[in-house]
Amino acid sequence: MTTLSHDIAGLILPHDQYGSHLNADGKTIDVVLEKENFCKAGETLAEVWSSTVIDSFPVVAQYVEHSDFAAEENLDEKWCSLPVLQTQYACQIVRCNSIECCGQWRSNYIQIFPHRFLPAPVPFQHTSEGLEVAQTDNGSGAFMALFLKD
Ligand SMILES: [Zn+2]
Repeated sequence: MTTLSHDIAGLILPHDQYGSHLNADGKTIDVVLEKENFCKAGETLAEVWSSTVIDSFPVVAQYVEHSDFAAEENLDEKWCSLPVLQTQYACQIVRCNSIECCGQWRSNYIQIFPHRFLPAPVPFQHTSEGLEVAQTDNGSGAFMALFLKD
C-alpha cells in the first residue's frame, strides 16, 4: 500500500470532470453525473497505478463500476467469509485449504501459518509463567517476531 499511496501523493483528482454534480451547498443534485465523475477519478487512479512496478512485478489496476459488483449478488456468502479476515489492522484475503477449490499449496505457507491468516500484532512479555499478553497501558510488552507467534 505504501508504494501505491506514494504514487498518488500530490495527485489532485477533479471532482467535476464531466461537469459539477453539486449544488452551491456541496450536495449532490445529479447522481448520474456524480457516478460519471467518480468513474473518471477511478480510471485516473487505475491509470497511475498501472504504471507502477512492485518487486519487479507490474501492477495491473482497473476501475470496476459498482454495478458490476451488484451483478454478483448470487455469491455464496459463506464461501466469501472463508478467505477474508477483516481486523483493525488489515483486511486479509487468503486462499482456502480445499485442493478442489484452490489447488495444491505452492509453498509451505500453511505450515508457517496453519490458520492461514497473519496473526494480529499483540505485545507479549516474558514472565515466570512463560509468555503472556502484555498489559497495553504500561508499555511493558514487545511484539514478537512474526514467525514466533501461534
Ligand atoms: Zn478456495
